Amino acid sequence: MRDPLGSVPIDEMQTRPSLPVSNPDALAGARRAERLLPTTRKLVANAIVQLAKDYDLYTAALARNPVNAAAARVEAVRRIKPDVDSRDNASVLLRDPRVIDFGTIFLAGLRSDEGMISVLAHELTHIASGQADSLRPLFRAIARRAAARTGLRIQGQRAEELGCDLVGVMAARAFIKQTPSWEPLSRRLARAFEHNCVDDDASDEDHLSPRNTIRALFAIDVSLASEELSDGSSGASWIVPRLPFTRPTMLTASTRSS
Ligand SMILES: [Zn+2]
Repeated sequence: MRDPLGSVPIDEMQTRPSLPVSNPDALAGARRAERLLPTTRKLVANAIVQLAKDYDLYTAALARNPVNAAAARVEAVRRIKPDVDSRDNASVLLRDPRVIDFGTIFLAGLRSDEGMISVLAHELTHIASGQADSLRPLFRAIARRAAARTGLRIQGQRAEELGCDLVGVMAARAFIKQTPSWEPLSRRLARAFEHNCVDDDASDEDHLSPRNTIRALFAIDVSLASEELSDGSSGASWIVPRLPFTRPTMLTASTRSS
């Protein structure tokens, strides 16, 4: 709520009237999504390779092909299509895997690069798995780990949705590391989650509820939770080595001597 670039929670998005494609906030969101698509494609391919290693999957030389094929499908995505009727959703059609349909309310509600990347990466991961469902073993392994640590029931489509969310958060986190800023790390990282910070925590057969999605993601990767709980100083520590004058103690000393 304090972040001017904070994402609107999806339950709040759901209560809003539909937005025309020409709405200025929706247009700004569409431009943001298009600008970030090439970067996000690379981040998603990297995250999938990383997860395949972490979960010790597709390791035999012959079996590595699914990961390469997934990366190639991600690389082929070309277009963001703003859509009024999709409202607060984004989706992909696997028979037309070069386009991401993006509701105009959703485009307008994701006001940061970090928030946009997490959602774009989620959709790209569906495309990465493709009609062949080639990332299914990975999704199941991720879901098993999350279920064991949370007690949540995560099977079928829920496993895929959670896997896509995990890639989304990993992509946003990698983007934050590549683009240092003075903003606190915890604030930037929160933008990858906060569309799920709902009051109305509804779930369905295909998705964990938004709050349980956040719980599961933190349970899968505890370092994520600790970064999120860190104060601003750890965000600054990433950028300190790149800057020529950064030591507040020196400023204090010079003030005292004057
Ligand atoms: Zn999805």
